[in-house]
Amino acid sequence: MATLFLYTARIMDFELTNQHRLARATARDVARTELAPYAQEWDQTMTFPGEALKKLARLGFMGISIPKAYGGCGLDSISYVLIIEELAKVCASTAIIVSVHNSVCAYPIFMLGTEEQKQSYLVPLSRGEKLGAFALTEPNAGSDPASLETVAERHGDHFILNGTKTFITNGSTADIVLVMARTDRTKRSRGITAFIVDKSFGGIIVGSKENKLGIRASDTCELIFKRCTVPAANVLGELGAGLGAALDTLTFGRVGVAAQALGVAECAFEESIRYSTQRKQFGRPIADFQAIQWMLADMATEIEAARSLVYRAAWLKDRGKPFAAEASMAKLYASETAMRCATKAVQIHGGYGCMKDYRVERCFRDAKVIEIYEGTSEIQRLIIARNVTK
Ligand SMILES: Cc1cc2nc3c(=O)[nH]c(=O)nc-3n(C[C@H](O)[C@H](O)[C@H](O)COP(=O)(O)OP(=O)(O)OC[C@H]3O[C@@H](n4cnc5c(N)ncnc54)[C@H](O)[C@@H]3O)c2cc1C
Repeated sequence: MATLFLYTARIMDFELTNQHRLARATARDVARTELAPYAQEWDQTMTFPGEALKKLARLGFMGISIPKAYGGCGLDSISYVLIIEELAKVCASTAIIVSVHNSVCAYPIFMLGTEEQKQSYLVPLSRGEKLGAFALTEPNAGSDPASLETVAERHGDHFILNGTKTFITNGSTADIVLVMARTDRTKRSRGITAFIVDKSFGGIIVGSKENKLGIRASDTCELIFKRCTVPAANVLGELGAGLGAALDTLTFGRVGVAAQALGVAECAFEESIRYSTQRKQFGRPIADFQAIQWMLADMATEIEAARSLVYRAAWLKDRGKPFAAEASMAKLYASETAMRCATKAVQIHGGYGCMKDYRVERCFRDAKVIEIYEGTSEIQRLIIARNVTK
């Protein structure tokens, strides 16, 4: 009861500032001109949107929350979610590429990195000169990352990494990878350390690009570390504190993924409005039928609820308040809303909704993937339950 009161007592100002509006308008504009004409083809051909990313970098979208002193834009988390939402409305693949780069690679280096690490890695990441990735998942360690098996053994002033990371977003295209590896086999979660690994160090074999259900233009692949030699100076944060850092990192990451889900849900809704008001059956637009109206009403309501959760998690983060449970609520609800909205959108489009030519078909496939990465819905419920019962 006390916990519930704590949650409801946090009042949020829903008014966007001029800076928020500008960030959203800029993202909307670039998504319309640089992503919309190509997104469908990128999805079909699994093409990584490299050229578009260069344009996003010129707008500062590869260092959204990073201070200007380190090459970023210095925008707040509300601006961050508005940008990811707008990109995802048009191309969910581009949105996750940008989200992973910003929230789970550049941001932890900003939060935990030494000045030298920031100059060497954060500045080029924020400027978009280098692309970042985050490597936690392994074949035997998905929802349970504490069981990871990649090892990092110390040899003088270097560590040698051996192991396999799987499903890594930006895996083949990234220059800088944040890698979680075991430095102490006698400990479980406290035996894991985070490393900033530059692909130029060598000893990394990049597996083939996964042929995925959705988010197909993002590059997802296996990374195999075979005697990859990393300077001890590239340990991020404290030795043995890597899992904690990774989980903290994923908290912010989840807000970005929640914003991505929100964008997909909105796209499914807008396409459904457009289609149902134009498509006629029985001599009337199908939007006149109550069955369709109820689907549209449910979609609109759930999208507004998801939006509140996503913006609220970002708002709490901007005020330096705890937001782990809220980030999980946002990720859980927004991703499941995206799935429900996309399913309804396909239904509203009838047979056409099953065709690759129609946008809602891509929403449907993308939404399913969003329910899984950066923590499945089951893991989000686990985190929320732990928070509300403690
Ligand atoms: C497209 C894509 C991109 C990805 N990008 C990255 C990336 O950039 N970096 C990275 O490190 N990882 C990445 N991942 C990995 C992703 O985070 C994992 O797939 C996810 O965390 C689930 O792990 P798993 O696939 O091993 O499933 P498992 O952990 O094996 O889970 C299988 C099922 O069991 C359920 N389950 C597991 N444990 C519990 C429990 N305790 N209680 C209830 N249910 C449970 C899960 O919810 C799920 O339904 C990506 C995955 C995908 C699909």
